[in-house]
Amino acid sequence: MPILVQKFGGTSLSSNESRQLVLKHIERERKLQYGIVVVVSAMGRKGEPYATDTLLSLIQDNGDALPTRERDMLMGCGEIISAATLCSLLNAASIPAVALTGGGAGMITDAQFGRARILEIRTESITRHLQEGKVVVVTGFQGVTEAGDLTTLGRGGSDTSATALGAALHAERVDIYTDVNGILTADPRIVEDARPLTVVGYAEICNMARLGAKVIHPRAVEIAQQARIPIRVRSTFSEDEGTLVTDVPEFRRSASVRDRHVTGVTHVSGITQITVHAQDGPADVQLQVFQAMARHHISVDFINVTPGGAVYTVFDHDADQAVAVLQSIGFSPKAVNECAKVSVIGGGMNGVPGIMARIVEALTEQGIPILQSADSNTTIWVLVKERDMADALRALHAKFSLHE
Ligand code: ADP
Ligand code: ASP
Ligand code: MG
Repeated sequence: MPILVQKFGGTSLSSNESRQLVLKHIERERKLQYGIVVVVSAMGRKGEPYATDTLLSLIQDNGDALPTRERDMLMGCGEIISAATLCSLLNAASIPAVALTGGGAGMITDAQFGRARILEIRTESITRHLQEGKVVVVTGFQGVTEAGDLTTLGRGGSDTSATALGAALHAERVDIYTDVNGILTADPRIVEDARPLTVVGYAEICNMARLGAKVIHPRAVEIAQQARIPIRVRSTFSEDEGTLVTDVPEFRRSASVRDRHVTGVTHVSGITQITVHAQDGPADVQLQVFQAMARHHISVDFINVTPGGAVYTVFDHDADQAVAVLQSIGFSPKAVNECAKVSVIGGGMNGVPGIMARIVEALTEQGIPILQSADSNTTIWVLVKERDMADALRALHAKFSLHE
């Protein structure tokens, strides 16, 4: 029996109406004779009753009082509520279904609570239920340690649960259902004329996901790529087939993909730029700075090292600590907070002259200062102030005609 994994995100499960649509997507695929494994996220977004952030708000006044093990127990509740609710809906519609926790589905992880890694998936239980003709509903985002403790896989981790289950079950495809029509050329919440991509390769999507396209988690893409399982990202709220992620050439050719240089633009906000000058502090500036950041577990990015010092970025929430650490070892760093990293991404830009010139042109036309930039063969990043981020995204999207 071919197996299909269908993952439904928070907005797809948050109301009675949307859950009816979920039911329709499951019924349609079931009629095609697939064995169906459904992976669910917690219902809704921040502020809605059973969303992960809402559960976390129950303990926010207590600082770090709750150990990470128990914090994972709290965070895992949202997915359990979704799985049981959907299971009841399926059974009520005369579709036999069973709900399994991550542990019940055999998702064994290490014990890094809050960011657990999957060690193994023991599929016997899922397979048995599938053979009995049931739809198997599995809680996303969670696993269990060998010792029996519930773990979570990191925020946005239900996508990872879905592709990992797809890989373990040798699924024909993993469908990620969300609230937009696929992976778009930019976040449609900011760029109104962003357009869904029809077919894209894993590497490009993984890159977009890492650089802020939060429609899919990069780990999920990596797992699917390793297992060579296609992913479809599509909307629960339409019949549109969305975006197919695959490296299979036949699919890619048949989709009349334009020979594009740039595939999409992405953003990450909440960033602080830190500049450290060598003459301000001790010798070995680079060594001292980055060792100090590492010692304090401050994640650094966008690193430019010169003989005169170093410029790099940290998240805004780490900025005060980063500055204090640098001062404590004798530097006088300069920090510019509330910045955003805007990335222009495209497998086709490798070796093509003039891409950077067009980026600078687009931003200069809007009067947007570039604070820093860097590039690889498939990406050019620029750092701008957060207040310029939306205009920068729109200008770049238009400059590369991504709406066409
Ligand atoms: P879910 O709860 O279904 O997992 P997420 O909120 O994690 O949904 O991801 C969907 C959201 O990702 C969309 O509503 C959209 O605003 C955002 N997004 C950001 N970048 C992109 C992009 N390039 N393409 C599509 N959606 C994007
Ligand atoms: N509910 C979890 C989160 O909000 C996992 C997910 O939605 O993918 O991070
Ligand atoms: Mg998500």
